[in-house]
Amino acid sequence: MSSFPSSFFQALTEALGADAVQTGQAIAPRHHSDWSGAPPVQPLALVRPRSTAEVAAVLRLAHAQGVPVVPQGGLTGLAGAAVPHAQGIALSLERMNAIESVDAAAATLTVQAGATLQAVQEAAGAQGLLFGVDLGARGSCQIGGNLSTNAGGNGVLQFGMMREQCLGLEVVLADGTVLPMLRPMLKNNTGYDLKQLFIGAEGTLGVITRAVLRLHPAPAAKVTALVALADFEAALTLLGRLQQRFAGSVAAFELMWRDFVEASLKWQSLREPFDQPHAFVALVDVAGSDEAGLRAALEELLGEAMEAGLAQDAVIAQSQAQAGTLWKIREATAELPTHMHPPINFDVSLPLADIGRFAAQCRATFDARWPGHTAVFFGHVGDGNLHLSVDGATVDHDEAGVERIVYDKVAQFQGSVSAEHGIGTHKKPYLGASRTQEELAAMRAIKAALDPKGLMNPGKVLG
Ligand SMILES: Cc1cc2nc3c(=O)[nH]c(=O)nc-3n(C[C@H](O)[C@H](O)[C@H](O)COP(=O)(O)OP(=O)(O)OC[C@H]3O[C@@H](n4cnc5c(N)ncnc54)[C@H](O)[C@@H]3O)c2cc1C
Repeated sequence: MSSFPSSFFQALTEALGADAVQTGQAIAPRHHSDWSGAPPVQPLALVRPRSTAEVAAVLRLAHAQGVPVVPQGGLTGLAGAAVPHAQGIALSLERMNAIESVDAAAATLTVQAGATLQAVQEAAGAQGLLFGVDLGARGSCQIGGNLSTNAGGNGVLQFGMMREQCLGLEVVLADGTVLPMLRPMLKNNTGYDLKQLFIGAEGTLGVITRAVLRLHPAPAAKVTALVALADFEAALTLLGRLQQRFAGSVAAFELMWRDFVEASLKWQSLREPFDQPHAFVALVDVAGSDEAGLRAALEELLGEAMEAGLAQDAVIAQSQAQAGTLWKIREATAELPTHMHPPINFDVSLPLADIGRFAAQCRATFDARWPGHTAVFFGHVGDGNLHLSVDGATVDHDEAGVERIVYDKVAQFQGSVSAEHGIGTHKKPYLGASRTQEELAAMRAIKAALDPKGLMNPGKVLG
């Protein structure tokens, strides 16, 4: 409570009730940091509002007293963006988790920002509909966090990122003003699309409190295959053939380099999926209406690819349980913090054709500098998105050295330092590798206009 004005604390508890405001030891340690592994910070208070009106009251009070506010969702972010400010409050949306309505005819869903991604997926599924974003942290991450990081994940190839799923947004600005932009229409050309400013802003412009999300018809069938490939070029050619044959229905194309597959099998005690190891393995989902027809078409395409020497081997899941087993290989990312000490994680995007060369050059540079190092390469390659994780213990804990190598190469290949995880604090020093000075100045102008006192998630994204 040290430098916390007691009048502010009193006003908060009066506005929200004592149970909504925690301080000191009462704050669960999980609110001190996020999944990025950033050093924990104890906020002066954790505030857990139950409604938009309460969020607005908190922000009005914080604005009046000059208190920094860090919005917190499910704390699964990987860029350090939800780590509290030592002189501020953490504002958790966890109690605002209602699925307010599903309009099956219009294929829209209205939700409070604290609902988990999984709850949204399940509510859509109950109506025979599908929410287009899926990712490994689905059980914990919240829609507000997904929107604030413009999350991507496994379905981007077919449906796009969170930006594409959002029809309307309710936002509370730094001074407590509510922007009720919740109109549920696909078409709405009424000047600036303000909601898009808050998507991907990582809580630096305001607090997202509610959203109208777009749903899609759920495909009646999905077939999963694992395909062994000799090189990156073969993977690209296969992706092209899949997209031609299953136009608009390739639901996932996840590529794993051998190092990732090996680590995943070992960490999760899984069996080698093929008779022998292969340089690359692609996990493919195709969606459609008729499972047998889909499987037959995929079998035919993969058979042709093997005959042509494009694919080296392939296995097609015969049931959803088998599909789940194949997907388990890709979902080893949750194991990274346990098996790397610590993992130095990257989430970059590059022009599709350059990803193979980029990865090979990174690996060669690491090899020259840290012979015997451990690094794993994998990603949503269909979206041009590559992840790589380097075991800090095998590179002398030189995180800055590894980052410099990777981000210099990203700049060289005209890529992006953050494909989907955001900037937070982790990538702030490297934002200039993907943004011009003029772009950064425009971003600062927007920040100054919406948050003139600089109280919303200070120190994240921009300086
Ligand atoms: C195992 C695992 C797998 C993952 N896979 C993927 C993946 O495939 N694709 C992907 O994109 N990400 C992935 N992530 C990263 C993470 O899950 C996403 O970034 C997610 O969108 C974060 O949501 P969250 O609710 O946990 O947000 P938090 O971590 O709590 O917060 C993230 C940012 O959003 C802000 N924020 C949160 N809620 C609000 C709100 N209501 N209003 C304003 N700002 C808010 C915070 O201040 C912070 O800046 C993965 C993470 C893990 C642990």
